[in-house]
Amino acid sequence: MARIKVLPAEVAQKIAAGEVVERPVSVVKELIENSLDAGATEIKIELENGGKNLIRIQDNGCGLSQEDAVLCFKRHATSKLEKEEDLEHIATLGFRGEALASISAVSRLTLKTYNGQGDRGYQVEREGDRLIRFLEIAFPPGTLVEVRDLFFNLPARRKFLRGERSELNLITSYVTQAALAFPGVKFLLIHNNRQLLNCPAVSTLEERVYQLYGRQLLDGLMAVDYEEGGYRLRGLSSRPFAGRADRQHQLFFVNRRPIKDRVLSAALTQAYLGMLDRQKSPECFLFLDLPYELVDVNVHPAKAEIRFKEPPAVFRLILRGIELAARSESLIKPVMIGGSSRKERQVQEKESGRSEPELNIPGGAEKEGEARKEGGEAIQAQARESQAGQTSQTWRQPGDTKQVAESPPTPGTGRQVLGQYLNAYLVVTAEDGLMIVDQHNAHERILFEKFKKLDEEKGWASRQMLFPQVLELSPEEVLHLEELQEELAGLGFELEPLGERSYSLRAFPDIFDEARATEILRGILAEGGPERLKSKRDKMLATMACKAAIKAGQPLSQAEMEFLAAELFQTSQPGVCPHGRPVVVEISRDKIEKTLGRQPGRTD
Ligand code: ADP
Ligand code: MG
Repeated sequence: MARIKVLPAEVAQKIAAGEVVERPVSVVKELIENSLDAGATEIKIELENGGKNLIRIQDNGCGLSQEDAVLCFKRHATSKLEKEEDLEHIATLGFRGEALASISAVSRLTLKTYNGQGDRGYQVEREGDRLIRFLEIAFPPGTLVEVRDLFFNLPARRKFLRGERSELNLITSYVTQAALAFPGVKFLLIHNNRQLLNCPAVSTLEERVYQLYGRQLLDGLMAVDYEEGGYRLRGLSSRPFAGRADRQHQLFFVNRRPIKDRVLSAALTQAYLGMLDRQKSPECFLFLDLPYELVDVNVHPAKAEIRFKEPPAVFRLILRGIELAARSESLIKPVMIGGSSRKERQVQEKESGRSEPELNIPGGAEKEGEARKEGGEAIQAQARESQAGQTSQTWRQPGDTKQVAESPPTPGTGRQVLGQYLNAYLVVTAEDGLMIVDQHNAHERILFEKFKKLDEEKGWASRQMLFPQVLELSPEEVLHLEELQEELAGLGFELEPLGERSYSLRAFPDIFDEARATEILRGILAEGGPERLKSKRDKMLATMACKAAIKAGQPLSQAEMEFLAAELFQTSQPGVCPHGRPVVVEISRDKIEKTLGRQPGRTD
């Protein structure tokens, strides 16, 4: 008897649906794409329970005829593609004719539509892959699709959905991207009857970014507009020496589709080399307009990936486009640099022998004592404390080897700090070999444990800001803020809502410098909380430790290095940072000697 059976159509349908519809955000994405393809200028998105119970999307697009309202649920039914050659130049967002078929196969779906012809519209009700009802109705021009109880007939899949917040976060993030790509379309997003986003139509990307993120973010961006060989790059991208401490806002759109792609982010990083502080990443909202035949959008069922036919040309486009924009930028406007980081760069430049023309910075005068204020401040101060009582210790300058000889190994451990490599790693002798310690990860581990202890002892002191800072948060950050409100208050952060998405930061944990308080808070808000409540606290503490820790690239004095090494080996887990990355590489003496062909004990 044959063991192979052809699957019943119903099962095959569900399997295929799973490729397109993975979670609520997939439904939102497909439906918004359909509305945009239908030429809508207004799109309203209503959700319940993170989209798991209800997703309702209404547009004022072209609507469907009676025939199409039935046909659109058939697999591979599309009005956007007729023959194979059309696949070569796809100008619409959809083209596979699979979305409605897939969504309706795994939900209870109602479609209402009117295409402006005749005097009636139509309503279709489906459940799973069955048509339940078809009726004529009065309806305004456009289409409404209501999706209830996603995966009601695929319990295994439904179980895999995440919590309400988490699904909602994904949706907010997608809607934000769609709104950026189509500033001329009004977007309204409502969750459990609460309005999360309301962006009336505007005519430029700048205005849309302003609506979504506020003035602060916009001020750090420059316009990019560059064309080469039929490729065009346009949008907004960080000004030289602006940027942000995380990669939150690095968004690329290829022919208006939001795309995550390694070629694009690598090109961006390269374009900003030398233009940003080391610990900052560029922000960008960049649109690549490429000839349709030079991108393959048909490589992924949910169209989340694409393939470039000429990746090097794309790479070059970004590199040159940003370089050109940055150049004209610095001709017109004075470059603003944050106080402490400029000092830090000077220190590094002096040491690496690189001399760049001094930038003329209005109002940039700094006090001497502010040098290397960033994260290093904390360990510097601590290192000083731990040395108090000893005779006036001079800080070791790089290249000054005398002190190494003077600093004896920590008794009983064989540990001695030999120096710093690439301003990022400490080279330390171990009992039986050499250790290379990542200075950032090490400091992160130390701070994390310190913060945890403070937290257990409920020892967070709060300090009032001298100059309360106004923060304009993105919709995503607002969600994270609400989710983490209690924890943040417990740590000493005090925020006052000023209306819309503006907040004033009034107080912060007293262990940080006032200048860094907002950056640390933003770091926490960017990440949001994990699903499990228990680890929420740890995650925040880890983020705080990461933001407060010294960075790679920062030169350290001998005393600072010794302090760091000593503290590290007193933590419970010197080997891993709180994010799970390794802190130390060890090379055994045995390995060194074997590799070099040296006999133990021989000196020649
Ligand atoms: P695709 O978008 O790949 O064509 P879909 O399953 O998403 O496939 O949609 C099938 C067809 O239904 C579309 O080609 C379009 O003609 C029609 N359609 C879907 N949504 C809308 C809408 N909101 N307004 C007008 N027509 C729509
Ligand atoms: Mg579609």
